[in-house]
Amino acid sequence: MTFPALGLSVPLLRAIAERDYTEPTPIQIGAIPVILRGGDVVASAQTGSGKTAAFALPILQLLARSVRPPGRFARAVILVPTRELAAQIGESFRRYSRYLPQPLKTLVVYGGVSINPQMMALGGGADILVATPGRLLDLIDHNAVSLSQVSTLVLDEADRLLDLGFSAELGRILALLPAQRQSLLFSATFPPALETLATALLRNPIRIEVPAEPAKTVT
Ligand code: AMP
Repeated sequence: MTFPALGLSVPLLRAIAERDYTEPTPIQIGAIPVILRGGDVVASAQTGSGKTAAFALPILQLLARSVRPPGRFARAVILVPTRELAAQIGESFRRYSRYLPQPLKTLVVYGGVSINPQMMALGGGADILVATPGRLLDLIDHNAVSLSQVSTLVLDEADRLLDLGFSAELGRILALLPAQRQSLLFSATFPPALETLATALLRNPIRIEVPAEPAKTVT
């Protein structure tokens, strides 16, 4: 399998080539075509499987087809348990999007730091908003961002989101999203509480299970 065969656009293929990825990992082979078609995905995937590119590349391709509406809207929201993961994912979106003809704005927000710069940065909205749940809700409460135009939601490391006690926050966030949206859920494990959340969140998802073999790490 090759990256072009997955249906990715030339600007994204260029960014991938620059990363020296020679072939897609199993999670990328499974998830990218489904996400490009607009489908929901639930994937069991460890860190190291290449899961970030598995959702970031097709999300970028979908977003690049249209422009962000004026206002404080986010178009894709990636919810993650920690600031470290948020920063890594934001960096990946920026790298993969660098050759797109229309620049897409990626913002990373998390708690434990001043909210004011994040509120300022959200002026004009964001195409991709990578966030920890508590800080995202704080920003919504400050009217700094609206989720009413979200077309794709990702829960990454969803088991850790629940382990860290974000269940109530996730419930509040999900209630603010449009019913008509794409939802993607990635997790290393699937405890019963997560299966319940997945059922509430996803519509006819494609289930992808990949062995815990790490992708070749490229730095
Ligand atoms: P992740 O599982 O998303 O944390 O990715 C783990 C590492 O694999 C990162 O350093 C990625 O840059 C790298 N990676 C992702 N996809 C590929 C690929 N197809 N080939 C080689 N490395 C990859």
